[in-house]
Amino acid sequence: MKNAKVACDACGKPISSATDLVVVSEFKHFPLAAYHNNCYAGQLKKSLWTYGGTKPLNGRPGTLSTGITAVFALGFAILVGWLYKTTGIQALLWPALLLGGWAAFTVGVRYWVYKKYEQLLPK
Ligand SMILES: [Zn+2]
Repeated sequence: MKNAKVACDACGKPISSATDLVVVSEFKHFPLAAYHNNCYAGQLKKSLWTYGGTKPLNGRPGTLSTGITAVFALGFAILVGWLYKTTGIQALLWPALLLGGWAAFTVGVRYWVYKKYEQLLPK
């Protein structure tokens, strides 16, 4: 698996290490695009739309923001569950469910990026 190559979506050359990898979701190469650090900088000017803004999905920032989303969603769900149990308020159940769904989606995307690209490259 370590020898499998990840090609850059901008220049077409192989990306040799995870530190030189930027994964984003964008309109042109939907759903995921992989770039060299330098190619991403150039590509950024041309891109129409990216999931999560222009923030890369891979590496530590991707993991961190995914973790924050998941923790926030979990905290909100616990709070809403507690409110529902103690006061019977149902209005927040749907938002909590939607937020939970969004968090699960974010975690899924993060894992997908790892499986598709990062796992194949040396650190
Ligand atoms: Zn490139």
